[in-house]
Formats: sequence, C-alpha cells, structure tokens
Amino acid sequence: MTPPLTDARPHVPADLPDHLRHHIGGEDVDSLDGSTFEVLDPTTDQPYLRTAAGKAADVDRAVAAARRAFDEGPWSRMLARERSRVLHRVADLVESRDARLAELESFDSGLPITQALGQARRAAENFRFFADLVVAQSDDAFKVPGRQLNYVNRKPIGVAGLITPWNTPFMLESWKLGPALATGNTVVLKPAEFTPLSASLWAGIFAEAGLPQGVFNLVHGLGEEAGDALVRHPGVPLISFTGESSTGQVIFANAAPHLKGLSMELGGKSPAVVFADADLAAAVDATIFGVFSLNGERCTAGSRILVERSVYDEFVERFAAQAARVVVGPPHERATEVGALVHPEHYAKVMRYIEIGRSEARLVAGGGRPDGLPTGSYVSPTVFVDVPPDARIFQEEIFGPVVAITPFDTDEEALALANGVRYGLAAYVWTNDLRRAHTFSQAVEAGMVWLNSNNVRDLRTPFGGVKASGLGQEGGYRSIDFYTHQQAVHVTLAPGHQPTFGKGAR
Ligand code: NAD
Repeated sequence: MTPPLTDARPHVPADLPDHLRHHIGGEDVDSLDGSTFEVLDPTTDQPYLRTAAGKAADVDRAVAAARRAFDEGPWSRMLARERSRVLHRVADLVESRDARLAELESFDSGLPITQALGQARRAAENFRFFADLVVAQSDDAFKVPGRQLNYVNRKPIGVAGLITPWNTPFMLESWKLGPALATGNTVVLKPAEFTPLSASLWAGIFAEAGLPQGVFNLVHGLGEEAGDALVRHPGVPLISFTGESSTGQVIFANAAPHLKGLSMELGGKSPAVVFADADLAAAVDATIFGVFSLNGERCTAGSRILVERSVYDEFVERFAAQAARVVVGPPHERATEVGALVHPEHYAKVMRYIEIGRSEARLVAGGGRPDGLPTGSYVSPTVFVDVPPDARIFQEEIFGPVVAITPFDTDEEALALANGVRYGLAAYVWTNDLRRAHTFSQAVEAGMVWLNSNNVRDLRTPFGGVKASGLGQEGGYRSIDFYTHQQAVHVTLAPGHQPTFGKGAR
C-alpha cells in the first residue's frame, strides 16, 4: 500500500505521483520482482512516494534495451546536427517547465525553491551547450606531406551508465545526459534513491523532444543493488559517477575487472582563503553563500574558511552575525535561503558532526535545529571558529550548512592548511594582490580555483577534482572526449617505404 500524502506541511505540489516506475525501452515498468522503496518528504520525514527498486534483472533489461537502440536505432548514426536539434528541443522543454521542475525538485530534496529554479535553468543550459558543441566540434587530421594522412574518427562508445547523487539531482543528471546523448551514445541512468522524483520527468521530456525510444533508460533503486549491477554489467563500457569519495572507491574496484572507462566527480572540503588585503565585505558575502547555498549540500562548498590573522576577528564577527540572519525555512517559500536537508539519515550525520565540532572548536552561530521548525530535517547555519587543522570538522566532508573557520599568519601557512586535507575539488582565494592570487592558485591542490569570486562556472571550462575529489575531468570538449572513442585512421598516400620481412636474397 502506498502511504497517504502527509498533511503535516502547508505545501504539497499538485498532481504529485505516488508511484514511480523505471523507464526501459520506451515503457514505464515496475521491477521484475515487484519491489519498491519509500521516498520521504524532507520537511516532515514522512513517506510520500513509493518507487520501483531495480535489481540486477531490471538493469539487464535496461542495458539490453539501450544496446538494441545503439545497434539498431538511428541515434548513434544520426548527423550531429540532427541530434543537436533534438537536444535543443529538450532544452526548450526544460526551460518551459522550469517552475514545475523546481517545485518538484524542491519538494523532493528540500532545496529552497529559488535555488531549485536556478538549477532547472542550468539543466536546460547544459543540454543547449552540448547540442551546440557537437555541431561546432571538429576533429584532428595530420598530414605527412606526400606520404601519409592521419585523421581522427570519433565514435560513440555504446551504452553509458550514469550514476548520480541527490544534491541538485536533475541538474547533475543533465550534466551527464547532455554530453552522453549529444555524442550518440545510449544511456542507463541510475538516479539517487533519496530524490527520484525529478528524474522521472526525463522520459516524457525526451519523448516529446523526439529522442528515439530505447536511447534513454532509467532504473531507480538503491546504490548497492541497481547502481552496483550497472557498474558490474559487462554490456556497459563506461560509467560516469558523481557521489561520495568512498562510493567512488567501491565503484572503481567493481569496474576494474571489466576495465571500464570511469569519470568520477567525488567529495570535497574546499578552502576559501581570505587574505588581509581582500575586500572583506565581498569576501563575507561570497563565503556565506559559498557554504550555505544549496543547504550546504554542495560538492564545491567552501566549507573551510582560512582567514589571515590581522582581519580574523573582524571577519569572524561579521560572518557569524550574517550567518545568524540567514533565513531557514520551508523549501517552497521564496524567502527561504536554507531549506531542509534531504533525508533524516543525512540530517543525523550532519547533527553528529555538529556535536563533534562542539568538542573540537568554538561555536559562534547555529549549532542545531532552528527555532520554530520542530519537525523535518532543518539545521541552522552553523559556524565553528578557531578550528584546528586536525579536527574532524576541518578534515571530513559534512555536506551540510556547517563551516570551519581557521586563522593563518603567512601565505605558506595558508597553503599548507588549504592543501592539508585528502580532498582537492575547489578553492576560493580572496586577495587584491595579483601576484599572490596567481601564485597561490597555481600551488593549491584543487581542480578548480575561483579568485575573488563565487562559484560561477563557464560551461566550456574543465570541471573535476584532484586527490580524493575525483578522477578525470568533464566540461566542454572534455566531456565529449569521455563519451567517445577517438579512433586514429592512417592512410598511406604514396607507395613509400613499407617495412617488410622475407624479401631478402637467399
Ligand atoms: P553517494 O555516493 O552515497 O551516492 C551517489 C550515487 O551512487 C547514488 O545514486 C547511489 O545510489 C549510488 N551508489 C551508492 N553505492 C553504490 C555502489 N556500491 N555501486 C554503484 N552505485 C552506488 O553520494 P550522495 O550521498 O548521493 O551524494 C553526495 C556526495 O556527492 C558528496 O560527497 C558530494 O561531495 C558528492 N558530489 C560531488 C560532485 C562533484 O561534481 N564532484 C557533485 C555533487 C555531489
């Protein structure tokens, strides 16, 4: 029995489904064994939806459908321009439905509605970008005058397995679907089990845009079951994964026997480094947003702020006062800046870190459930200061609205602190000294650096982390490279020197 919709919150989107199915070979289907799992409303922690729980047999069906579409369907053979038209229509449809998408995403994930709307628009932009890129793309040709011509024959790889997390789910799915489809692959998507709702909209959008049946397949389910079956499936030659570093390690090991192509976007504990010469007001504004936007459930969150000692007290005072004014509230309210965390399990994890933080550092803002929100996974923006670099809240990814602030005295110390964690996803540097900005950026162990800026990314630039934050880079042509083979074709132009054996005189 599907549990009733909860009455405990003021806002429930209209026409909410109460049961989600897989989408395989153009049809919505239940799991072969009929099993399902519950999805919770983050503002009440009550179940509101049942979703088909895929197992290995369901993944088999999806991979077979995707393979058939790849081998027998038109998609992998279409002109780039034709595929591009379909993907532009996807972008148009996503844009035209951005309000509904944001409403469902916000309800399912607890993200504030204004931020969910921004993510829906970014999802459309991802499709538009890759639709343009495959048309503009050219491949290399090399000429050896009079002797040889060498050219690159770029080909889609086959069935791409896409495994995505629950933070900004729809946008992160688009980040993989866009390039995987643009390059002519067929796909099996396994979305996160905490947030399956928005993923269920893709099938309708793709059908309306004219994507041939079987090109897009979706299997819901738990990571250890559906995700694992996709990773181990011999018919899936590449896996693009976004999620926790520890899950990435498991997937890496399970994909190894098949020597699969892997792209891994993993966890982070990114530093925001504020030097004394920085524009302090701008740095406070940006770092507040950098760690508390998307509920702090953001891989590139600036969750460690390192501040030069001469401005440390002033920075801490301003930051704590502003953090205390951040509006925590129901995700659907436009004034809300921090909504509800995605799930009670994640809420418990974040709360445990807050307790750990109390014994490791000084709490100056937040520290638990906000007043007036007695139920649901709400956490006040929480600020710990004087955090020692060996503290767990300095070293470990919390993935919630919790920040660790630490002072430093010299550039060398700032760099050592910034690099002194296992992660290396992003770094933010605040200084008006041009030389210091670039010297520091080049030395910091991070896949991406923003100077005097929030996390604003041009889609052409590389995206990815170093160390425990990832493997490989996507973004722009790098995504195209991941989802394609580049076959080298060598043509002899003249009967030149051809090495051989067995032609010598006896
Ligand atoms: P997670 O690793 O728990 O799950 C991610 C996905 O992997 C889910 O779909 C899950 O079902 C699946 N999964 C889990 N175990 C699996 C297994 N054994 N085999 C195959 N699939 C499996 O991550 P999460 O909690 O959903 O997401 C939060 C994490 O994602 C954070 O660490 C965050 O930093 C990271 N993240 C990284 C980026 C990035 O681009 N670097 C972006 C967003 C989130």
